[in-house]
Amino acid sequence: MKSTNAVTVVGSVALDDLKLPTGNFDNVVGGAATFASLAVSLFARALMVGVVGTDFPESVLSDLKQRGVDTSGVLRTSGKTFKWVGKYAANLASRETLDTQLNVFADFRPTLPATYRQAQYVLLGNIHPALQTDVLGQVEKPKFVAADTMNLWIDIERAALGRVLEKIDCLIINDEELRQLAGVHNIRLAARIVRGLGPRVLICKRGEYGALLFDDQGVAFVPAFPLETELDPTGAGDSFAGALLGRLAELDRFDHTALRDALGYATAVASFCVEGVGTQRLLAVTRESVDERLAAIRALAG
Ligand code: AMP
Repeated sequence: MKSTNAVTVVGSVALDDLKLPTGNFDNVVGGAATFASLAVSLFARALMVGVVGTDFPESVLSDLKQRGVDTSGVLRTSGKTFKWVGKYAANLASRETLDTQLNVFADFRPTLPATYRQAQYVLLGNIHPALQTDVLGQVEKPKFVAADTMNLWIDIERAALGRVLEKIDCLIINDEELRQLAGVHNIRLAARIVRGLGPRVLICKRGEYGALLFDDQGVAFVPAFPLETELDPTGAGDSFAGALLGRLAELDRFDHTALRDALGYATAVASFCVEGVGTQRLLAVTRESVDERLAAIRALAG
């Protein structure tokens, strides 16, 4: 039975244009908050914060509600929905941002519904760090706060990102971004430097090479699940972060053992995300299949 604990999730809500090896897909529903909330909802209540424009289909918000995501914190306003245009390499391992259109996110100042303010778990998904700080400031007494970010904000908003780092318990970041943020190449050293900026826990995502957890107990590793079908990695990082926070909220613990457990679930849920274009696969996945995949991941090594 899914926990009644809740995770407040902020991040982009998007209509992406994706240039994948299998073809071009326009106006695909995406965004950090969308993927993360869907992933949270496999484990705990997701309280989604974001903004959409008049072009965003109402049916998508109904689908999210159907999956147990509270969308009362998603504002609809006049203008166009956030758009990311991304082009993937033939092997899907790297991608290039062709365009980022903030649109309705440019002036978005959220006011969280009362239930959202009481959440004990918070995921500051990828979006402008000032917006992450704004949302965190409205949550009354969170027990555990995690954040994600990306190269764009490390490049252009480092001071604002620094203020986020000071306030969070956990940073979830990919290896390239970790190196960029720390200014060193060695991952272990980079993790130490970034933990020194605030977060007690650092989780480094390494795509098909798995994920590393750094905390006071040292370092732990979970391998990625080798997939036969890889269609679209968009949102894998956000689903990973959502599943991690969802599982911690379900356990209502965030000690080293709980973090290791949640890291496995995060890896399992992210692997499903890659099997479909946009949110397609995540919208259909069940908790039972996530548990089965986790068992397969645990059986991989030794
Ligand atoms: P991921 O593949 O997990 O890194 O997340 C992909 C999602 O991030 C896409 O659906 C995009 O809409 C969203 N995204 C891309 N760039 C940004 C940005 N600068 N701010 C917020 N969200 C973004």
